[in-house]
Amino acid sequence: MTIAFQGVSVSRGIAIGHVHIIQHDQLDIREYQIRSTRLEDEIQRFNDAIANARQQLRAIRDHIPVSTSVDIAAFIDTHLLMLEDNALTEEPKRIIKERLCNAEWALKLQRDALVNVFEEMADAYLSTRQDDVDHVVNRILRVLLKQTPLLHEVADDHLKNKVIFADDLTPADTVMMQHYGIAAFATEYGGPTSHTAILARSLGIPAIVGLHNSLRFVKNNDMVVIDGSTGTVLVEPDKVILNHYEKRQREFKRYYTSLGRLKNAPTRTQDGIDIELMANIELPKDFDNVRDVGAKGVGLYRTEFLYMNRESPPDEEEHFETYMEVMKALRGLPLTIRTLDLGADKQVDGVGRQYGQSRSNPALGLRAVRLCLKEPELFRPQLRAIIRASAHGPIRIMIPMLTNMQEMQQVLMMIDEIKSDLDDEQIDYDHEIPIGGMVEVPASAICADIFANQLDFLSIGTNDLIQYTMAIDRVNDEVNYLYDPLHPAVLRLIQMTIKAGDKAGIPVAMCGEMAGEIEHTRLLLGLGLRQFSVHPASLLEIKKIINDSNVSEIKRLANKALKAKTGPEVQLMLKKKFPDTI
Ligand code: PEP
Ligand code: MG
Repeated sequence: MTIAFQGVSVSRGIAIGHVHIIQHDQLDIREYQIRSTRLEDEIQRFNDAIANARQQLRAIRDHIPVSTSVDIAAFIDTHLLMLEDNALTEEPKRIIKERLCNAEWALKLQRDALVNVFEEMADAYLSTRQDDVDHVVNRILRVLLKQTPLLHEVADDHLKNKVIFADDLTPADTVMMQHYGIAAFATEYGGPTSHTAILARSLGIPAIVGLHNSLRFVKNNDMVVIDGSTGTVLVEPDKVILNHYEKRQREFKRYYTSLGRLKNAPTRTQDGIDIELMANIELPKDFDNVRDVGAKGVGLYRTEFLYMNRESPPDEEEHFETYMEVMKALRGLPLTIRTLDLGADKQVDGVGRQYGQSRSNPALGLRAVRLCLKEPELFRPQLRAIIRASAHGPIRIMIPMLTNMQEMQQVLMMIDEIKSDLDDEQIDYDHEIPIGGMVEVPASAICADIFANQLDFLSIGTNDLIQYTMAIDRVNDEVNYLYDPLHPAVLRLIQMTIKAGDKAGIPVAMCGEMAGEIEHTRLLLGLGLRQFSVHPASLLEIKKIINDSNVSEIKRLANKALKAKTGPEVQLMLKKKFPDTI
């Protein structure tokens, strides 16, 4: 029997494949007594689990692709070393003997004891060691409990063409996915603009989130269809359904291949308005895609991915070399580097933990430019590297999450200091390097005129702008239903920002997910948007819609939309006028 689920579509396309389940849920560890005659067997079971965990780690280390950050190897070496440490290999055996308890319980008691020691040390760095203890202990526990290892705990070739089902996936998991040739993923939690979702789009694999309770109905190796366009999952499809989706999969492929002919065409509306279409990038593999789809440059380079899965932040040289590498791949196209936006939804294993991410309400806390200004040792090396790299190609600096002008002034002062240091050191840089800011908080959209008068460009980050306007945590699936790019408040803030930019004579782009959603392209053109920055995977589709549009015709519709009372009302207007894209 075929079972169907409906979730929230976050990355389009059709995938057909076998399920691989990953569950991060707390492991259920219970104590039970063992007879003294079984003591040796229990100790042997524990020794075998340690050996198995070691084998898993070595297999992963041997499969790390050369393009991966070296720190991932260091991460795994640390875990291998921990598996040699008596605290984890011998002490649990002592507990088994003393309490005559099962190996899982003994390991849990030892884990708690170790974590208590770390907590008492109250040292930010050592608190990251707690995570390492948990990673290693959980790996051993999963072997003891005969559970499937987590995504990043298995060597790559197991997962080729699999459809990953998980309760949730961290961005770090998703980054690892690019190496595994995964066909698609589906999660119980997560929102459409979570970083995991954004990464799925950039990897170009279909993905669905918000599939509550689905894990109760699928098992490993079930055959599934993932329709990333509608958010539908079909488990064990019958022959008729399968044929239908195989046909749709072929059509989808044909459609994408046909878009290829637009690669070198100008991005120009039917009434002759030129639009700048740029790309968003985050992972090294995206660099080449920018040219492949004919983007006019990079409108958003998310640099927090440089900080992922590692123990210490990158230094100035690593930043510099990375930017030089990106510029090499771009061969002269302009590059907009968004400075570090760590915190809230952008959690990274290891280094991020050191920078105050554990408070409640993280989305309203110390993230992005706020964190950077508080931790100049994190910010300064990045700014210096960007400014140095500007001597070698067209670079723009983009500051995320601006809230008030004082913040911006602090950043501008820091940039001036760096420039003056570089002058002293006789290091070359672009003295006119453009500095812009992201409009992601209603405060900066409402006061966009103030920012526009001080900056060289603005870019609207709708993922955050919608989160903060609607007061919904973008990764909380329980409030997903309030995520509405067409809400009159959102449309008005977008229009205010575009107008402020026009008045000050500076460009305004949009680099949030809304810019890459085909159902919104025409409305954004009508609201006056002339620069879009989208994932390379959706760029040609957006170009097609722009090239088929007539701005003077849509302007009237945009004005009507601004007067609408609700998002669905706007959606209906769009649907009536453009039935093909909704
Ligand atoms: C945004 O908020 O729209 C944006 C582009 O930034 P990020 O998704 O990285 O927070
Ligand atoms: Mg943002």
